[in-house]
Amino acid sequence: MEKYLKVLNEAQKAPVLHKDGALMVIAGAGSGKTRVLTYRIAYLMDQGVDSFNILALTFTNKAAREMKKRISEIVGSSEAKNLWMGTFHSVFAKLLRFEADKLGYPSNFTIYDTQDSQRLIASIIKEMGLDKDIYKYKQVQNRISSYKNSLITVKAYFNNPDLVEADAMAKRPRTGEIYKNYVDRCFKAGAMDFDDLLLKTNELLTRFPEVLMKYQNRFKYILVDEYQDTNHSQYLIVKALSDRFQNICVVGDDAQSIYSFRGANINNILNFQKDYENVAMYRLEQNYRSTKNIVNAANSIIAKNTKQLEKVVWTANDDGALIKLHRSTTDAEEGRFVAESIFEHRMQEQLLNGSFAVLYRTNSQSRSIEDGLRKRDIPYRIYGGLSFYQRKEIKDVLSYLRLVLNPKDEEALKRVINFPARGIGQSTMDKLLVAANHYGRSIFEVMENLDKIDLKINSGTRRKLEDFVTMIKSFQITNESYDAFAIAEHVAKKTGLLLEFKKDGTPEGIAKMENIEELLNGMKDFVEGQKEVADATGNLGEFMEDVALATDLDKDTADEDRVALMTVHMAKGLEFPYVYIVGMEEDLFPSAMSMNTRSELEEERRLFYVALTRAEKQAYLTYTQSRYRWGKLVDAEPSRFLEEIDEQYVENLTPVDNYRYKSFINSDIFGDVDKSKLRQIKPQAGPPPTSHKPNENQLRKLRKLKPELATPVGNTNEVDPNLGEGSLVNHTRFGRGTVLKIEGIGNDKKAEIKFDKGDIKKLLLRFAKLEVL
Ligand code: ATP
Ligand code: MG
Repeated sequence: MEKYLKVLNEAQKAPVLHKDGALMVIAGAGSGKTRVLTYRIAYLMDQGVDSFNILALTFTNKAAREMKKRISEIVGSSEAKNLWMGTFHSVFAKLLRFEADKLGYPSNFTIYDTQDSQRLIASIIKEMGLDKDIYKYKQVQNRISSYKNSLITVKAYFNNPDLVEADAMAKRPRTGEIYKNYVDRCFKAGAMDFDDLLLKTNELLTRFPEVLMKYQNRFKYILVDEYQDTNHSQYLIVKALSDRFQNICVVGDDAQSIYSFRGANINNILNFQKDYENVAMYRLEQNYRSTKNIVNAANSIIAKNTKQLEKVVWTANDDGALIKLHRSTTDAEEGRFVAESIFEHRMQEQLLNGSFAVLYRTNSQSRSIEDGLRKRDIPYRIYGGLSFYQRKEIKDVLSYLRLVLNPKDEEALKRVINFPARGIGQSTMDKLLVAANHYGRSIFEVMENLDKIDLKINSGTRRKLEDFVTMIKSFQITNESYDAFAIAEHVAKKTGLLLEFKKDGTPEGIAKMENIEELLNGMKDFVEGQKEVADATGNLGEFMEDVALATDLDKDTADEDRVALMTVHMAKGLEFPYVYIVGMEEDLFPSAMSMNTRSELEEERRLFYVALTRAEKQAYLTYTQSRYRWGKLVDAEPSRFLEEIDEQYVENLTPVDNYRYKSFINSDIFGDVDKSKLRQIKPQAGPPPTSHKPNENQLRKLRKLKPELATPVGNTNEVDPNLGEGSLVNHTRFGRGTVLKIEGIGNDKKAEIKFDKGDIKKLLLRFAKLEVL
């Protein structure tokens, strides 16, 4: 047995060593799925499979880079160079560049980011004279995106009366027309949006059997990580490519499927066995990432979902600390608590900032956390907000560079044609646009032919337009003999962009200039790095490809030690020693938008499962009683998910509050009373109740709802006065034990108990259901 396989357990080795054919690994978080995928690739190569014949699809490009690095360490870096590895989008963008001409696209097609798509849609809505309050560009973009991911082309849309009718019913009967115009305009601009990268790949593979065959023969082995989150379009690509050899290996966890709002389809996992012949199924059960407390708590949460495959996750790791629950009064205080806690752990355990992650449900929650961290001078980094490449000044430079590669790129042109100001106004642009639509050409092509068409543009403006065309063309010539960095530097200077920000002189202007410098530095690094990549040259095209699909996660920050801030969605597949999940409140997590159906709620719960399972050593859950949302201070209620965690794994740092009030409502005392009604009764304002016991006012309301509840209910978990050191006790789960020590007072009172089964546990008496024997 090869030495490098020693780092796998037996269950992991089986799928790694599996011979040809289809295999699926379904297993819980942290059980080594990604590790299996990595080692399987190394093993295949070790067994003589040419890296050229392997395709691996990962969830982030960062994950792909890390895997590639690991594989290089095992089989040697020159071997690993040829591996095709990356996200669906980046891999198929690359494939499409080779085959673009078949679809009528230039090989240097532009990739429109979401912002470009939205701007174009907004402009189409305006040109069509539609009401922008009814046709909201973001909504329309979303809709078009979901059509594309379900492979509903414009033609398919109009052939489907149900879809047409649905949009008409939603009072947006012209959605289909917008869709058509959008697709036409992208095509004319030589641009594909993110969804096109998958849609067009599908089109390519279906329309051109010889192309399909070529790639089927090339990718003899296909591996997919996070298979549970593939959408229909991705599913079809994988299916088509693997059809010939059927050497397909997918790994995933149905309990971590969190992208159904973007069209991810859990049936891709469920139907896998039907899609391929003789599928080998593997399970992994041992979690290597987290402590027992975290693994068990996560298990107790996901058990609440009805729809899931049966799975066991256990760990041989230590119990670790309990999950800490913290309540604050405001979101600002929540931020301070997180910062303080990170500060303390960092000091006491001599940790790096990179050991900590703060996860939230929505991006807007980062603000109060950032404030807290800044006040404590803790460096942090936000992932997934406005990415570096989307900042205005950076996009300005990039737009010029996009035009160098593809002058037909309409969104890039519109952005920079008059920036820095050249006296080309909106009315001129409108005239150019009308002509472009009329002739079915791009704006740039119209600009190249101003002498042939009468656009009623005065000669002064005409000269300016011609100058612009000449400038871009001269860049194109320069580009032929320069690398990405050199051409970018040239462009930033010649266009006057750098000067523009320098002239500005304000701190913002200077910051922008520095950002452009950072971009240039990054390009220099990129050019250097490309020297190690097979067939790469470090030219502008390669750089732009990289940037178009880059997320923040991809920016290498190895040299910077920072706390990571990101949404739970972004955190998939990652791990951190300490994880803070903030904003554990109703209407936030679970999100207000996802509570309408059971399946939406289950997806939120899976999201919580993903969040918690990122933690290796310790997890914190925080919530606040009030929070600024949409510019207003609103009351917040603890998340229902807090109550769903088995309480033996949780330590409440701020015990007295309506969290327990809610648990009280949820407890069995109320039998089959409609709990949702009980929930509507808010605990009284003023000093928080000092025990489980509701106050008179609340009790009165409760009694009204359930008349038989005539007598006040005492604290069901009242600490037994007979309990002391040496007491013999019985615990519903852990069985018999002896109390070693009692510490703390009131609600914080804890007992350290040695159970007959051998464990010593510290239990919060308020929660522990102890019987004194
Ligand atoms: P997720 O569901 O979150 O994507 P996963 O199943 O892909 O998790 P990995 O990320 O592959 O799990 O592994 C989790 C952690 O456990 C990693 O740090 C990995 O290096 C470690 N690990 C996996 N298998 C072993 C093993 N056999 N021995 C030691 N460590 C392991
Ligand atoms: Mg993984």
